[in-house]
Amino acid sequence: MTLKQALRQTREIFARQNIEDSRLESELLLRHALGISQVQLYQDLHRELGSEAEADFGRLVKRRLRGEPTAYITGHREFYGIDFYVNPRVLIPRPESELLVEEALKHAQSRPLSTIADIGTGCGAIAISLSINLPRTKIYATDISALALKVARFNCHKHGVVDRVCLLRGDLLDPLPEPVDLVIANLPYVTETEVSRMCLANFEPELALNGGWDGLEKIRELCREVGDRLYPGGSLLLETGLGQSRAVASLLRRLFPSANIEIIPDLTGIDRAVSLTLATTTAAVEVTW
Ligand code: GLN
Repeated sequence: MTLKQALRQTREIFARQNIEDSRLESELLLRHALGISQVQLYQDLHRELGSEAEADFGRLVKRRLRGEPTAYITGHREFYGIDFYVNPRVLIPRPESELLVEEALKHAQSRPLSTIADIGTGCGAIAISLSINLPRTKIYATDISALALKVARFNCHKHGVVDRVCLLRGDLLDPLPEPVDLVIANLPYVTETEVSRMCLANFEPELALNGGWDGLEKIRELCREVGDRLYPGGSLLLETGLGQSRAVASLLRRLFPSANIEIIPDLTGIDRAVSLTLATTTAAVEVTW
């Protein structure tokens, strides 16, 4: 069997099992089995796979068919054009979270950001993408999970940003040693009920997904605490789940009446993120939900 035939066969099996991106996933697994780049794969399409490689590839395909995500099988996931190491201790970065990075970079164009905090950094995808694009900015990246921070540390080394990304363990904003210009966060926002279904189905850590009864518990906590962690004129950028952005925007409106609050849609028009920019002097008000 040639590489091309192996790919076609796997693509068809994946498609029948309703695995999205069946073509990309078969290519990633075959490349992983053979230890080759995408360019090499395309150059070698007509060569024979060989029985040993065929058996290796077959084992990876079986794992995928049992529900394990390709990113965990290969240990890689691309985010914002950058290759990240991932394992089941961290959420697999999603393409939609690239919107947060783009928005943060827009903020950086309109005013200098000397410090940013990425809260709940996981594998470090957001913090490291920002650090690569904003080499003069100091970035704090926090996570409550020590095992997630190990993954983030590995990625900081891989991308040469250990001196600029400071990893801190703790809940939400607790570990921050100083106020920052921008707080950015993709916190857990999936509802409890949905989470049990998702974690069983895709192996991801519950801690990174579970946002409590309505999905917004962690986000509410962060919104309530963020006021005195931002410099005047500072900003907050939050990823939100489907249908959550209005609730988050109205909470922020009540907490920060004089701030500028925006709901940010992604390229497909779906509301994906909420941003808050404080006035140069602000007063937070108490809100109970
Ligand atoms: N975007 C993820 C999903 O629903 C959830 C990530 C999160 O909770 N922040 O698949």
